[in-house]
Amino acid sequence: MTTTPSVAVVGGGWSGCTAARLLLDRGYRVHLYERDQQLGGHSRSEVLGGVVFEPNGPHIFHTSDSAVAEFVGRYAIGRPFEHRVLTEIFLEDEEEPRYLAWPPQVDQLRELPLWPRIEKELENLPATPSTANFQEYSESVMGPTLYGLFVREYTVKQWGREPHELSADFAPKRLDLRSDGNTRLFRDRWEFFPERGFQEVIEQIARPVPVTVGATLGLTDLEELAREHQAVVVTAALDDFAGRPGSLEWRGIRTVSRYVPVDDPAATLTPGYQVNRPSLRRPYTRTIETKHATGQRIGATVVSEEYPGAPHRHYPVPTVDSRNERLNDSLKREIRETAPLPVFFCGRLANYLYINQDEAIAQAMVCAEEVDAFLASAGGRTEGAS
Ligand SMILES: Cc1cc2nc3c(=O)[nH]c(=O)nc-3n(C[C@H](O)[C@H](O)[C@H](O)COP(=O)(O)OP(=O)(O)OC[C@H]3O[C@@H](n4cnc5c(N)ncnc54)[C@H](O)[C@@H]3O)c2cc1C
Repeated sequence: MTTTPSVAVVGGGWSGCTAARLLLDRGYRVHLYERDQQLGGHSRSEVLGGVVFEPNGPHIFHTSDSAVAEFVGRYAIGRPFEHRVLTEIFLEDEEEPRYLAWPPQVDQLRELPLWPRIEKELENLPATPSTANFQEYSESVMGPTLYGLFVREYTVKQWGREPHELSADFAPKRLDLRSDGNTRLFRDRWEFFPERGFQEVIEQIARPVPVTVGATLGLTDLEELAREHQAVVVTAALDDFAGRPGSLEWRGIRTVSRYVPVDDPAATLTPGYQVNRPSLRRPYTRTIETKHATGQRIGATVVSEEYPGAPHRHYPVPTVDSRNERLNDSLKREIRETAPLPVFFCGRLANYLYINQDEAIAQAMVCAEEVDAFLASAGGRTEGAS
């Protein structure tokens, strides 16, 4: 008689919880190990004095992937939400900032005193964007004036390096110039925000999975894991997991959140859920006021300022030479070669990819399929596993 194979999952964010739940639903034994004291990973939400807020920055769920939407829909009651990002722009000779849509909308730009210059630059844009680096891509999509107003200083603050040192690879998903008058940031089929944020949703996905919190696992723990498990899914950052912190470059953020009582329960303090603050006059990159997205009616609000450059593994750093991506691939090979059990990778950290929540979930779905196929071919599946 064969026993039901067991899978260890390292990391309890979207990708780890999704992979763990899908494998459990297929009949495997699963155990999830999370470094923090709670699940949720980067998308975690918290509550301060009754107000839901996001300690790791704004997290709107949006996708056009029907399998992902269906999966998340099983666990989330989402409030329909249309994410519109504002950018705080300071113009010469004007005391007060202006708040313009991100991505920039041509109709709004026509109202600016700088419009004649912007218009001339837009007329001279190349037919296809440059892929040389992030700066050249941006300038070839919106011209140097808009690049200067919306992108340059934000990028320098966010990434801590000059935009020409960064790869253009991630730019098409993040940068645009629009003239359709529709100020929604995302154009996906599904878009929503849960009333209590994502914490409860992710916890609900992992609810039947046995979990150990406060457990930081690494390469040296695999020997012990192999005694109990037949495969491991790793969603942790691989420089950390392999015991080589610092070998991969990361960019992290820190948020400073302020609880403010308000008289009107519907009141908010900032002009939008997410307001980008590119100017170097501000040490932070943006403000987030999650109350705009949850629609909570409560006599307070929480405004968070997002400061870049914190020592956390939040963003992979996509440089022009793809140095980090190559190193991540070699760390995967090294881990697989030395591990005493089969290792599978998924998620934003382990794959060193600048991806959204829906993409992390989609990766976990593929990963669960791969683990299932592997264990089935190894002959370990029992009748209970389907
Ligand atoms: C500032 C910011 C804003 C974002 N906004 C959006 C948005 O609006 N919409 C959107 O769709 N996406 C957004 N994203 C992306 C989204 O956060 C990620 O795609 C998603 O959270 C990735 O999930 P994950 O499980 O792959 O990684 P994570 O959420 O990082 O989860 C990894 C988990 O592994 C744990 N862990 C790490 N190392 C170990 C270890 N050695 N042992 C055990 N556990 C470990 C961590 O504690 C963590 O819980 C944003 C990202 C950032 C940085």
